[in-house]
Amino acid sequence: MSQAQASIPPQPRAKALRACLLCSIIQTPADFRKHGCPNCEELMQMKGYPDRIQICTTTHFDGIIAVIDPEQSWVARWQRTCMVSLANLDESVYAAAHD
Ligand SMILES: [Zn+2]
Repeated sequence: MSQAQASIPPQPRAKALRACLLCSIIQTPADFRKHGCPNCEELMQMKGYPDRIQICTTTHFDGIIAVIDPEQSWVARWQRTCMVSLANLDESVYAAAHD
């Protein structure tokens, strides 16, 4: 097993998490506000704009998947099929599905 360090958010805070509508990455609203989306900030421009975070992310998602090796992971490839304009997924936690 690899020693990748993608962290899975603790359950008690799970309800506060939001998934990016474009790449499905899961972060806290504070992370989206501070850093934007690590994959599609260029398109979404959520950093510093809570209003855009409300529009561009969702709290409605089914389960989560962790991508710790974007090059090798079939999950990452599958996620990528949904993301026409994104070349690379960041190592992180993603929503398995969302509305
Ligand atoms: Zn994104």
